[in-house]
Amino acid sequence: MGKRIIGSVAIGALVCDACGKTMQYPERYVLVCDEADGEGERFCEDCSRKKGYLKPMKMDWGEEVESFL
Ligand SMILES: [Zn+2]
Repeated sequence: MGKRIIGSVAIGALVCDACGKTMQYPERYVLVCDEADGEGERFCEDCSRKKGYLKPMKMDWGEEVESFL
């Protein structure tokens, strides 16, 4: 059993399950899905970063981007 982490973009208004912030298109968010019961939690970019779901990645060409794991 594990968690599935899906990076996505808010299409309508979504509320972050951690800080309660409302996310609007085109903000990115992370959906953490529990594979056991199918329940999911949504986190805004800030909370994703704090929880370690969003990590900066160094690309080959030296550019730094953030990527959802
Ligand atoms: Zn949040």
